[in-house]
Amino acid sequence: ETLDKGLEKSKDSFFSKLSKAVAGKSKVDDDVLDNLEEVLVTSDVGVETTLKIIERIEERVAKDKYLGTSELNVILREEIANLLAENNSGEETEFVVPGNKKPYVLMVVGVNGVGKTTTIGKLAYQFKKSGKKVVLGAADTFRAAAIDQLQIWADRVDIPIVKQQMGSDPASVAFDTLKSAVTMDADVVIIDTAGRLHNKVNLMNELSKVKRVMQKVIPDAPHDVLLVLDGSTGQNAFEQAKQFTKATEVTSLAVTKLDGTAKGGVVIGISDQFKIPVRYIGVGEGIEDLQVFNKFEFVDSFFK
Ligand code: GDP
Repeated sequence: ETLDKGLEKSKDSFFSKLSKAVAGKSKVDDDVLDNLEEVLVTSDVGVETTLKIIERIEERVAKDKYLGTSELNVILREEIANLLAENNSGEETEFVVPGNKKPYVLMVVGVNGVGKTTTIGKLAYQFKKSGKKVVLGAADTFRAAAIDQLQIWADRVDIPIVKQQMGSDPASVAFDTLKSAVTMDADVVIIDTAGRLHNKVNLMNELSKVKRVMQKVIPDAPHDVLLVLDGSTGQNAFEQAKQFTKATEVTSLAVTKLDGTAKGGVVIGISDQFKIPVRYIGVGEGIEDLQVFNKFEFVDSFFK
């Protein structure tokens, strides 16, 4: 029910736009498909993914010769759930520490302002709640505020944080964090990293150095690289996904701020275009406002 509330705007918007797109029509024809295309694009599904969805619906129309607009919702739901499933988006239903690594090392990347720190805090809270020993590493050393904000979350969740001064070497912070985590016998390590995209080469070098140095402590770390994207920024989120996937190997996605936007479609497009599973969604500023992304709930809330 939180998800329904969180995604209310996406839902109203998508569903009402969809209803208008088929108004007065009983059969799915070219007009309806054109309208549907516009609805998907304006819901930030992205052009490529939109065309893919339209194509699949055209195939269904061709195969069955006739498709009533009343059946369109059902088919659209199916196709969207299928698309998400193709990239393993929304497979999990609970916050579980993936794999059997101890400590499990999660490196978090994303541009400043997207909700990276908040997502780390919320995630740490969920892992701690499930009985795990969690440690944070403040390897975004470029801004003092980033370190302070992460400290606030560490206090709130009541977990240790490893940090150094602003301007210190991010790789050194990551190294220290992993060392401490091993000493403390921690279950989960979450490493915050720099959020600057304007210098791509620097970003790429910094992230690979952080990884390389972490591997001196734990050879297969990081076990996951989570990219945080702001779901309310539409095309910007796509662009950031493009840049970050070039800079480093991203293994999962968190899409934030889906409570305050009519643009939830970004989840569908990003999952499809980057072939990376969407694992978490942010639906508010509070500590509990992070959800494990569930494709069925998501699709339901889109169409209800
Ligand atoms: P960072 O710079 O990427 O670390 O961003 P922060 O974590 O500091 O978040 C930036 C702002 O976005 C803060 O005011 C957060 O409270 C807010 N925020 C983060 N996630 C969400 C979300 O899911 N929903 C809403 N409404 N606000 C969020």
